[in-house]
Amino acid sequence: MHHTTSHTRTIVATSSGATTHGTMEVLEFSEQGRMKRALVMAAKCIGITALCVAIPGAHFILVPLGLLVVTPAMTLYTFRVKTKIVAAKIECPKCHAQLNVLSSQENYPMYENCSSCHRQISITHG
Ligand SMILES: [Zn+2]
Repeated sequence: MHHTTSHTRTIVATSSGATTHGTMEVLEFSEQGRMKRALVMAAKCIGITALCVAIPGAHFILVPLGLLVVTPAMTLYTFRVKTKIVAAKIECPKCHAQLNVLSSQENYPMYENCSSCHRQISITHG
């Protein structure tokens, strides 16, 4: 059974009329994969909360906060993540430097700043 599948997407970078084409490696999580990641996240949150029990005074606030707020929020957030960007290979449309795609989630259009010419580049699914 595959929890994650990797895909290669074709992407287009645009900056004031100029475009370049590139590719992006994306991991897609199945329902089971997302559930598993969410459970791992829940276990981590509970583990961190358990450590807070040892903090004198603060544990009255930190433990309920950790269990009732942080753990459900992070677990739900993790479950909702369907894809993760692992690598992108695309050039800046203006200066042709390799673009660093800092986003970890696919959410088109994505905006990245070129580290070479500092222009804002929008990235869309090609
Ligand atoms: Zn550039």
